[in-house]
Amino acid sequence: YAPLSEVDPEVQNIIDKETWRQYSGLELIASENLTSRATMEANGSILTNKYSEGLPNARYYGGNEWIDELEILCRKRALEAFHLDPAKWGVNVQPYSGSTANFAALTALLQPQDRLMGLGLPDGGHLTHGYYTAKKKMTASSIYFQSLPYGLDPQTQLIDYEALARQARIFKPRLVICGASAYPRDWDYASLRKTADEHGAYLMADIAHTSGLVAAQELADPFQYCDVVTTTTHKTLRGPRAGLIFFRKDGDNHKDLEKRVNDAVFPACQGGPHNNTIAGIATSLLQASQPSWKAYAKQVVKNAQALAAELVKNGYKLQTGGTDNHLVLWDLRPLGLTGSKVEKVGDLLGITINKNAVSGDASAQVPGGIRLGTSALTSRNMLEDDVRVVADFLHRSVQLSLLLQKEAGSKLLKDFVRVATTETEGKVGAQKV
Ligand code: PLP
Repeated sequence: YAPLSEVDPEVQNIIDKETWRQYSGLELIASENLTSRATMEANGSILTNKYSEGLPNARYYGGNEWIDELEILCRKRALEAFHLDPAKWGVNVQPYSGSTANFAALTALLQPQDRLMGLGLPDGGHLTHGYYTAKKKMTASSIYFQSLPYGLDPQTQLIDYEALARQARIFKPRLVICGASAYPRDWDYASLRKTADEHGAYLMADIAHTSGLVAAQELADPFQYCDVVTTTTHKTLRGPRAGLIFFRKDGDNHKDLEKRVNDAVFPACQGGPHNNTIAGIATSLLQASQPSWKAYAKQVVKNAQALAAELVKNGYKLQTGGTDNHLVLWDLRPLGLTGSKVEKVGDLLGITINKNAVSGDASAQVPGGIRLGTSALTSRNMLEDDVRVVADFLHRSVQLSLLLQKEAGSKLLKDFVRVATTETEGKVGAQKV
């Protein structure tokens, strides 16, 4: 029962350093957030000790009385958080992550080598939506299924729904996937439903990025149109790292969907559920069902819009010119900078961002932009005025990146890196977290 700091000071020290990095820096990664203390307590609890393969009241191990209660509670809260009628929707809360949730959903909906269409990765889609390159089928979603990506209108940088419908008439998909990792606008689910129906295809939304905003009803409702909705729980939803799969139960098309989804999660794709994580999900869903959640989600969007407006005011180019959700895609190509350079400079300055492909990039390996998100800043109670200050820091980081690019290999660059690195180390050393 000795604490971590006694049993393993080396790991404790790494946790302390990471804690300081998270507390002292500005977290702008759009897929990250800061979970509540309550969620982390549940996630770090004794529930990690228990095996519970199967579903509530149908387990392959004994001793699951309380685990059953927990999973039933988590499912109930998931349906409540997304305003779903339990007669029409069910949910599986066992997926270990968004990727496993997606693969389990594909396993439930498709036969091997069936056809699916998802937003292409360079246009903001996720790897698990069928991504492959000219050289390689590198994701399970393209290895085990036939995949055709749809994309953005090069002029508007919005999803080209008409082109998608035309592609679908030739490709005849069995599944259309919507949702993205880097798309700053909302989705036209009605149009996607129409296209899916033309081919008797399923429609699945992966709302990993936006689920916290969907729960708050700040974005269009995918549940109105989709057969299956998947999400991660750790992005805008602010929970532990995991996934959820929602499935429709009503209508002829969905008769056995519940069984197919549950069987796809276990035993097809996973073993025993991570009960400590399910407890963390339940706690975060409780928080996402409270009236204060709506205010949080509204503020996330307002902050993203304030950030976007400030960058535009400074003359920068954003994909689609702004945002409807929590993220901003900043196109650095007009400045002659790559996303990776600005990401590195950000690291030295304590501003955490990630390089990201922007529409029209020649290669996804050398992304021409960066992705910014406001979920974590908003969890720290930042408002629009604070975010405008952050936009100014970003503006200065980019100007610094330009200067350093010009001075590549020079003493100025080396000195800067040395000072920035020593400063960071100094802070970590000086501060007992
Ligand atoms: N789906 C989308 C849209 C994502 O953006 C991500 C992760 O960034 C995932 C799925 C995968 O989630 P995970 O990293 O939990 O496997």
